[in-house]
Amino acid sequence: MAKENQFVNQIADIETDFPRWYTDVVTKTKLVDYGPVKGTMVIRPYGYAIWENIQKELDARIKATGHQNAYFPLLIPYSYMTREAEHVEGFAPEVAVVTVGGGEKLAEPLVIRPTSETIFGEMYSKWLQSYRDLPILINQWANVMRWEKTTRPFLRTSEFLWQEGHTAHATEEEAMEETMKMLGVYKEFAENCLAIPVFTGRKTEKEKFAGAVATFGMEAMMHDGKSLQAGTSHYLGQNFAKAFDIQFLDKDGTHKYAYTTSWGVSTRLIGALIMAHGDQRGLVLPPVVAPVQAIIVPIAAKKEGVLEAAAELKAKLVAAGVRADCDTTDNSPGWKFNEWEMKGVPVRIEIGPRDIEAGKMVLVRRDTHEKTEAPLADAADAVKKLLAEVQQNLFDMAKKRKEERIVTAETVEELLKGVEGGNFVKAGWCGCRECEDKIKEQTAATARVIVEGEHAEKCVCCGKEAKEVVLFARAY
Ligand code: ZN
Repeated sequence: MAKENQFVNQIADIETDFPRWYTDVVTKTKLVDYGPVKGTMVIRPYGYAIWENIQKELDARIKATGHQNAYFPLLIPYSYMTREAEHVEGFAPEVAVVTVGGGEKLAEPLVIRPTSETIFGEMYSKWLQSYRDLPILINQWANVMRWEKTTRPFLRTSEFLWQEGHTAHATEEEAMEETMKMLGVYKEFAENCLAIPVFTGRKTEKEKFAGAVATFGMEAMMHDGKSLQAGTSHYLGQNFAKAFDIQFLDKDGTHKYAYTTSWGVSTRLIGALIMAHGDQRGLVLPPVVAPVQAIIVPIAAKKEGVLEAAAELKAKLVAAGVRADCDTTDNSPGWKFNEWEMKGVPVRIEIGPRDIEAGKMVLVRRDTHEKTEAPLADAADAVKKLLAEVQQNLFDMAKKRKEERIVTAETVEELLKGVEGGNFVKAGWCGCRECEDKIKEQTAATARVIVEGEHAEKCVCCGKEAKEVVLFARAY
């Protein structure tokens, strides 16, 4: 295996070779490396720190909406998978199966969880007795495995990390409310923490989760105009309740099947961050989830008092709750500027002998490269204010791009032209699967979400009356 060369940080051109740019960025910034088994990834400390910040923010929101965390087994009896017909059909091609344990062939093969509706269903059927036990609101943070043929770090790997919420309710209304509530939580989280504006809406039958009555998705626009499904929330109706016998004794003395939901987001969100905000110099991380929010680079570090002043500044910032660090390596300042820019740190602080003498520091924003000065005396306030501005600006820029790159189409040719130009395309759709398949065949675009509250005259494909307006895009 080739050793990393710390002096080579050439990144492919973001406009002309986005796939290479992505690979360069994720590996050179040490977010991730390829695992020895094809399709697996090693999430390195810098990448894992982003995931931990995502977890921290999202976990607080999941708990604030009344959910508790638990942990379910990785291994699921194969027979569970087969109980819900659509579910097994959707997942069978990508499950990994354990057939030998302790040197002996197992009586029943076991599935490495691709998702956990089945095992939650089995346990809920045991735990649920009466209406008093409802709702059951459980989330788990875990890894899952889906055997994939073509893989890319964070975007599609055979093993990834995620959270999966699984809930059971007494009525259809409550389960539907939960489904929409969690979609709303994801949207708020994506916009306020990841600075990524998203489209949310119902998925078509073709695109919905295997076994769901309805799937609602959150789609984000990437730098190249392609869409990334960044989270989903499923209304499962009574499909899994019937397959796993999740029943309860209701107030009226009769036994009823519960209504269930499931919802999840994964380490794909790190891929979304990279591709939504990154630029030619590398990563651009939103301060809320950046592992290092402010990097201090001492200038003329060998001069007396510089390293001491830098250390003092770092301590002050850390005490004020800023994730600050100081680069005390013997690399040149210019090298450090490049390195931390590539790593996407939102704010760089330069401090040298003249700054110290004048009682100030130089602040450089990663998003706009704008340089300002601030007094060392109120360093914490100045840095916090700047971090908030960077966070807001990243969201505003992503929102502007999202709004500028939505076009409408009346014909499949227009739709093709739209997606080739890096746009999301709104178009009328008659609701039939044939048209959806044909559109994909001819444009490589898929129905991302059904747009609420908008109307079109005709189906973009067959010209018959449109039932829905659909947002089409090429997707990761
Ligand atoms: Zn049609």
